[in-house]
Amino acid sequence: MARVDRDRLATMMASEELRFTADHPKSAALFERTRKSVHRGVPMPWMTQWASPFPIFADSARGARIRDVDGHDYIDFSLGDTGALFGHSAAPIAEAVADQAGRGITHMLPTEDAARVGEALTARFGLPNWQFALSATDANRFAIRLARLVTGRRRILVFNGCYHGSLDETLVSLENGVMRPMATTMGAALDPAETTRMVEFNDVAALEAALAEGDVACVLCEPALTNVGLVFPAPGFHQAVRDLSRKHGAMLVVDETHTICAGPGGGTGYFGLDPDIITLGKPLAGGIAGAVYGFSEAIGERVADWIDEIGSFVTGIGGTLSGNALAMRAMAASLENVMTDEAYAHMTEQATRLADGVSDIIAARDLDWGIGRLGARIEYRFHGREPANATEAQAGDDPDLDRLFRLYFLNRGILLTIFYNVSLVSPETSAADIDRHNDLFAKFAGAVTA
Ligand code: PMP
Repeated sequence: MARVDRDRLATMMASEELRFTADHPKSAALFERTRKSVHRGVPMPWMTQWASPFPIFADSARGARIRDVDGHDYIDFSLGDTGALFGHSAAPIAEAVADQAGRGITHMLPTEDAARVGEALTARFGLPNWQFALSATDANRFAIRLARLVTGRRRILVFNGCYHGSLDETLVSLENGVMRPMATTMGAALDPAETTRMVEFNDVAALEAALAEGDVACVLCEPALTNVGLVFPAPGFHQAVRDLSRKHGAMLVVDETHTICAGPGGGTGYFGLDPDIITLGKPLAGGIAGAVYGFSEAIGERVADWIDEIGSFVTGIGGTLSGNALAMRAMAASLENVMTDEAYAHMTEQATRLADGVSDIIAARDLDWGIGRLGARIEYRFHGREPANATEAQAGDDPDLDRLFRLYFLNRGILLTIFYNVSLVSPETSAADIDRHNDLFAKFAGAVTA
């Protein structure tokens, strides 16, 4: 079996960094300038986590392409970490947004787009009640409030390796089976032991034991874990999650923010799930801040009664700009004209072409590597074992190899994701783009292995 040559990794990294710096003088200059007024030179701290010594500054993006300020064009397999899953500035969204921008951006009034979006979401996901937020994080925060209101319980249950946004309750992980606050969280407000239970994905016995405590308001989960590479549900796992949450009186909240890559009905449609609440953000408004949460008839009735009883709208839900006219218009255009069955058929076909090509390269070179795919989302594994949970997934992490992989691709005109070894395929990604990716993957595999 071929192995990664660790000495070669270090030499390659040094030369790739030099090459990047030489090729990006304008990004370098902008980074220096921005550092003088923007903390660490980037709008958000994680923008320094790209594989390059400093980030490329974007000039423009369209479809599956990004151009940087130095004039380099990249095929974008990162797609804004799903925010641009359906392509940058997709024409129907760009046109709708330009039109709406001239007709009122926010006014705290509903527009006809509310009906268009609600109808499209109900048709896709089944749930009859939809509400709006500005981000997936917010949608999850509000979904948890609904579950707490309906059940009268405080705790939530999440799976190890989850990411549902910057919610204190979810910023936890299992260390040797014990739940701990994530060491990386800035200024955590609460001891998550008071708010959260956590078990491994695919561990039905642990789930049952945690729910049997009788204090869990909701299970918040993704259909497949997507933030530790891809971890797929074992056969029967989701049925057990549904049955056990029902048996123990907990709501089931499914976060579709990443798994919307699986198909028009997201992971819910793909795996045949039956949640009480669904949340979805990121690409729904084509990258404009906008997110939704949808819930069952029973939850809708309970919440409506409560709002009537309480007679106040300071409910801890929503904000001034939630459901603003611009975001609503973008969502309507996106759902009706961009996130179409045809778009999904193309994305899935091209993602399959990518995954099959990479599998062939791995087999031909006798590498102990693997590849996973969920619809338009592809995970590269630099280890052979398909993980059943986050602990197994993280055991295979190889940060040096990961970083070299992404920088090698960046230097050759392909942008891979910032946080993990995942690629996304958009409706605008062509077969020729995939072939370029796969040729480069073969070269990279040859270059790093002995
Ligand atoms: N849910 C999932 C599954 C996510 O992966 C993320 C972000 N990666 C979020 C929610 C939060 O999204 P946002 O940062 O847009 O609020």
